[in-house]
Amino acid sequence: MTIEADIERIPRRRTANGSQRAVLRAEANLPVNGKVMRVMVFGLTGIDGARAEEVVALVNSRDPTAVPLVRVHSACLTGDILGSQKCDCGDQLKVALRQIQVRPHGMLLYMLNHEGRGIGLTQKIRAYALQDGGDNTIEANLNLGLPVEARDFIAAAEVLHLLNSDTIDLLTNNPLKIEGLETHGVTVRHRVPIQGDLTEQNAQYLLDKDQRMGHIGALPAHYLQGPKATQDVS
Ligand SMILES: [Zn+2]
Repeated sequence: MTIEADIERIPRRRTANGSQRAVLRAEANLPVNGKVMRVMVFGLTGIDGARAEEVVALVNSRDPTAVPLVRVHSACLTGDILGSQKCDCGDQLKVALRQIQVRPHGMLLYMLNHEGRGIGLTQKIRAYALQDGGDNTIEANLNLGLPVEARDFIAAAEVLHLLNSDTIDLLTNNPLKIEGLETHGVTVRHRVPIQGDLTEQNAQYLLDKDQRMGHIGALPAHYLQGPKATQDVS
């Protein structure tokens, strides 16, 4: 299969015309880290009724009247499930869940369609192969003819609206997520920074996120203070 053929399969951005609707398809209790949360599966249907996307919400609502702390987490099979150290996703997922559980109201939205910042698993692994050859995370996508950022946040915003969470505190370092949600009618009252573990393997990726992709505070401050501090990181 050619890369060009695969690019055709990447979901196109939907127009912000409200044609996507979130529908709750299933929910149940789920014990996580010793606390019972509510797991909810939402289907996002297009205007033709075709099933377009699924979003999983893991909700702690001891006080549903409180402004919720929200993490919109992009699925990362390699980081979340396999424990890859090329990125910080797995750590961020754990940190976010802990923070959501200690608040009176919080939710994690797990975005199944966001793998590889929206380019999908196959293309992400192709990009990793180019990174093995020396590309950084941005160059690899561009050399595959793919956007560096292919996610949108319509589905997340639709689910938040359905959960009566039009105003939220958002766990993120990425201003694009705030912009993406606010474009679709969600007010981000506070940005709450999130930091996973820094490892030798993910340091360059985090540096690229910090310096080339506009993320705020992806790296601990000491990492940016100079070569000596950099060498001390392991
Ligand atoms: Zn990842």
